[in-house]
Parts: sequence; C-alpha cells; structure tokens
Amino acid sequence: MASSSLDVGSIRVRVLDDGTFITSAGNLFGEGSKNAKIKGSMHAVLVETGDALVLLDAGFGPELPEYLEGRYELKREENLMDQLSEVGHAPEDITHVVLSHLDVDHVGWAIDPPCFPNATVYVQKAALEEGRNMPEGDGRREAVPAVEKGVEEGWCELLEGNAEIVEGLRVELRSGHAEGHQISWIESGGDAALFTADLAPAKIWFDPDLIAGVDTDPEAARKNRIEVLTEAAERNAAVILYHDPQDFVVAVRKAEDNFEGVPWEE
Ligand SMILES: [Zn+2]
Repeated sequence: MASSSLDVGSIRVRVLDDGTFITSAGNLFGEGSKNAKIKGSMHAVLVETGDALVLLDAGFGPELPEYLEGRYELKREENLMDQLSEVGHAPEDITHVVLSHLDVDHVGWAIDPPCFPNATVYVQKAALEEGRNMPEGDGRREAVPAVEKGVEEGWCELLEGNAEIVEGLRVELRSGHAEGHQISWIESGGDAALFTADLAPAKIWFDPDLIAGVDTDPEAARKNRIEVLTEAAERNAAVILYHDPQDFVVAVRKAEDNFEGVPWEE
C-alpha cells in the first residue's frame, strides 16, 4: 500500500492508509449508477509539527461496522495503526485528532473505541448537531453517542467555526458535504498543504459540476469546492485527497471550467 510524505516548511506531513472500500456507486451518486462499483481509499494524514502530532481523520477503525455489511467491502493489507507504527509512532504519541465530519469512514479509530489515549479530538458543533438529526442507521447518527461521551469525559472538544488547532495547522469550516464539515490547512515557512477531506475527496471531484448524491447541501458544496480549489491553485498548495486510491497528493491547476490535479513535486 502506498504511503508518502512531504515537507511543508518545517512541518513533516505523512499520508497514511487505512485500506480501501468498495461499494456500489449508487451509494455515492444515486440510483442511476447503482450497477457500477466504486472504490476509495482512506488516507488519514499525520502532521508532525515538532511540538504536536496531529491526525487528520481516522479511517474506518478496527473493522467495518456491522450496519455496513453487505453494502461496503473493506480491503486491507495494513491498517492505520500498522502504518502509524511503521513511521515510528505509537497511538499514545498522537496529541490532537481533527475529524472533518462524522461519516463512518472518517472517524473510526478516533471515537469507538478511542484508540489515541492522549489526544484531544476536535469536532465541529454543527457536525454533531447534524448527526443528532440523522435517521437511525446513518453513520453520522451512529457517531453521536461516542462524541457526546468524549465531550463529557473531556477528550473531545467541540469547535464553532474556523480555528487554529496548533501552530501551523488551522481548520476552516466548509460545509456542503456535511453540516460543519471542516478542511485543514497546514502552513509553515510560506508553504501550504491542504487536506480537503470530503469537500473534494478524489480527483474526479475537481469537476465542480459533479454533484455527489451524498452531499447534504450540493450547492454549498459546489461553491465551497470552487473557492477552496481556486485558493489551493493560487497558493500552489499540495492537496491531499482522502479517498483517491492513486493520486492522493496533487497540485491543483485551474483549467477553463474545472480544475486539474497534477502530480505533486516538492
Ligand atoms: Zn468519506
């Protein structure tokens, strides 16, 4: 499985891998495409600032949750924990975990059970509120009890909007895929990297007219996607794509009416 790293100023950024899921495209793009299969990786990101060790999103967790059986298949040679230890870190070393939103493929290792005993887990309050209003069996709803427990026990902190998590890492509220969906900017020494999470989780999302059936608010997602990708192109930021199986670290170029992802070169 791929793993890769890049330097953003004095910050080391490592892209980890929690395996690949396979599902019917209908689960992501609506009924019309249900006969096609789609696959996506879970590329959690490890940010080493020197003072802090931050994890951006947290994969599926130890195993595929029961309620997804039959709908999703999970393929792994290694999981996130294996990858973490390969780059020389133990779960205890993680100081902060940022969850982009509460979908099941992003929160696994962080909340149920929480596998990082010394970390504070950051969730947007709006994402929690959305989860509470989802129907039973929805992943965002399933995450709610664990997040509420975390808030009560003090290991989960609720954010309200943009915030600096540690020096060199700030989150920005970019809703659309989910309420309270947040992206992360890593910035140091004039360099920047962007973790888009599910705002643009793979290169195919660089076409802003691709409306995913899974976006809570497709118009907001489209507007935010265009704004954020434009900024990434202008800043020549390395863009890390959570679900892209192949090209998961790219530079963005603005094309006529869409964006292009080209291989990232430091
Ligand atoms: Zn996702």
